[in-house]
Amino acid sequence: MTPRFIFIIGGVISGLGKGVFTASLGKVLQMGGYKVNLIKIDPYLNVDAGTMRPTEHGEVWVTYDGGEIDQDLGNYERFLHKKFSKNNNITTGKIFQQVIKEERSGRYLGKTIQYIPHVTDYITEMLVKNHQQSEAHLSIVEVGGTVGDYESSLFLHAIARMQSRYKVASVFLGYFLRPPHINEIKTKPYQHALMNLMSFGIKPTLYVVRAPTQPHIHKLEKIAAAANATLDSIITIPDTRNIYEIPKLLYTFTPALVKLLKPLALRFPKNDRTFKTERAKYTRFLGSIIKIEKKRKEVKVAIVGKYTKAGRFTLKDSYISVVEAIRFAAWKNKVRPRIVWLDALQIEKARLSDLQKMLEGIEGIVVPGGFGSTGVEGKIKAITFARTKKIPYLGLCYGLQLAVIEFARNVAKLKGANSTEIDPKTPYPVIDILPRQRKLLSQKQYGATMRLGEYKAYLKKGTMVYTLYRELRRLYRDSHGAYVIERHRHRYEVNPKYHKTLQKAGIVFSGLSEDSTLVEFIELPSNVHPFFIATQAHPEFTSYPTEPNPLFYGLIKAAKGLKVQ
Ligand code: GLN
Repeated sequence: MTPRFIFIIGGVISGLGKGVFTASLGKVLQMGGYKVNLIKIDPYLNVDAGTMRPTEHGEVWVTYDGGEIDQDLGNYERFLHKKFSKNNNITTGKIFQQVIKEERSGRYLGKTIQYIPHVTDYITEMLVKNHQQSEAHLSIVEVGGTVGDYESSLFLHAIARMQSRYKVASVFLGYFLRPPHINEIKTKPYQHALMNLMSFGIKPTLYVVRAPTQPHIHKLEKIAAAANATLDSIITIPDTRNIYEIPKLLYTFTPALVKLLKPLALRFPKNDRTFKTERAKYTRFLGSIIKIEKKRKEVKVAIVGKYTKAGRFTLKDSYISVVEAIRFAAWKNKVRPRIVWLDALQIEKARLSDLQKMLEGIEGIVVPGGFGSTGVEGKIKAITFARTKKIPYLGLCYGLQLAVIEFARNVAKLKGANSTEIDPKTPYPVIDILPRQRKLLSQKQYGATMRLGEYKAYLKKGTMVYTLYRELRRLYRDSHGAYVIERHRHRYEVNPKYHKTLQKAGIVFSGLSEDSTLVEFIELPSNVHPFFIATQAHPEFTSYPTEPNPLFYGLIKAAKGLKVQ
């Protein structure tokens, strides 16, 4: 079967919500009965996002098969409630790495290798391969960057060539600027970006106008004239407060979607009945969260972060999956979430009385993943506070390691306990590197030293973690026992040498790895603390709008003052 692609290309400015649009379009086509595959192109030279600082490029998303990817993949998975492989992310770095490798191994023997056609053909090959492996009806491909960027032009050339070989539709997404000094919407930048795109030989099937407010019809007519298009192929998406409203907005434009699928020789919807029920279900879900978001009563959850001094990206971008995971869990608990940002460095400097003030009214504390020593003592202080004041606590990856350190120092009385990541000379290395990772690290192979992707963990019956995963139907069974699957991204572990000492002091290992050597979940017994749970995994990557991850769900339940077990 001829592969089918829809390309999403942005212009005028970055930060238009292209990722959310792509995910929303995917969602609506899925609701219409199609099996949809989503691919993200990142035109940067990094092979993946693994070594990028979160303040540089937002959060790093981890796929089930261990890819460290741009955060857009996170939106795709959250919207579609579907897993995507690391191969669904194509970067310029990945393409060049492969083309050069294949040149060395003789693939192009005798030829002069050029951007066009060799590199562009390789891009096409990767897209087609990914599409075929997905077994989807169609693939939606989001092209990162903005038309006119030097970096994305190679991909645009590839798309232009693909138009005659495959079934291809494309969407141009641009912005209507409203300069404050004239306070009027201007369409020129949109028109110019569009002309730039068309100079590659790509004529969009659909035109999306992002605008601060609904623009007047004659502004849209200008676009229609410039593009030689009809008005029904132009849709407007004004700024919305809640990104989950976008799919609903899109299905009100059904005629435009019909038009979009025409070049793919597909109708929309594929199945009228499915579309109707799915639409009704989504409208109901949206209605309920809008109602919850208007409630007076809120639950206040603090995220203790270190990526506060953001460069291009805000704190919210650095921890986007954690934020979304908290929101989903709150919605399920029918309470309005309020996220409070706490700077770990500030806590580090604070006295106990100041800390009390900073944390006043906080009903739940999350320490998310992190690397290095910046702000670590501040995070540990926040954990002491949560533990001793019995405030519900959820630790994610680093948040587990730091909880173990805190417990070792203050309860098991191992003075100076630490992780060798922070203090290689600590007398009590309760968190230490895995032996197999140590070797790679000494060779400075940072890109390959992590335990990445999905792993099974076996849970101990009767623990809080067990209860929560069972309650939300994410507990599976095999001949070994009851297990869960979560994603990982870490180099360090709870040191097996201290397992006994820590357990004796009262910490419960509620989940272990398949070979029982690695601690995956810890908790304090429910008679000691209402909710003190941490995991070596990243449950924020398996959180969906209608199906929150069990641990976040439990955190909010406890934050509301309800008993989890
Ligand atoms: N820095 C810690 C490690 O490498 C934790 C990583 C994380 O939180 N993702 O093990």
